[in-house]
Amino acid sequence: MFTEYDNNNIFAKILRAELPCIKVYEDEYTLAFMDIMPQMAGHTLVIPKESAVTIYDLSDEAAMACMRTVKLIGSAVEKAVGFGGSTVFQHNGVKAGQTVPHFHFHVLPGSILDASSIKGHALELANPEELKMMAAKIISCIEDRQP
Ligand code: AMP
Repeated sequence: MFTEYDNNNIFAKILRAELPCIKVYEDEYTLAFMDIMPQMAGHTLVIPKESAVTIYDLSDEAAMACMRTVKLIGSAVEKAVGFGGSTVFQHNGVKAGQTVPHFHFHVLPGSILDASSIKGHALELANPEELKMMAAKIISCIEDRQP
């Protein structure tokens, strides 16, 4: 399956540094940054640098690189928030609720099944200073990737 890629989507602009993001991690293949409308404190996004809309458009190499970064960032997000659990999810296509047409994983330090702790999807802009403080905490919890 192949979905036509829109080069002007928000995440493509972030990757080209045409728009800012609150970055927590970057390597050759992936970028992780704070969601500006978090569903809970610590909500982080992991995106490939490859241009792909859905998981079905993603190369195996980019999928693998994303999973590696999700593992790294997910455990850092868990530690930063101190919840002791996390949820990783992603949407494929508008019909499934995808609002930004560049593949991404959502990493949330909590349960999306707990209505009392989760906010609506892409609903409310967070305070940028609070996001920056959370990003610094997450960065400090990223483990050294060297074997
Ligand atoms: P989805 O609906 O699965 O495509 O998720 C897109 C996510 O991107 C939502 O959680 C939004 O809050 C988030 N988002 C939208 N614009 C930005 C942005 N400029 N920087 C960071 N996150 C964003």
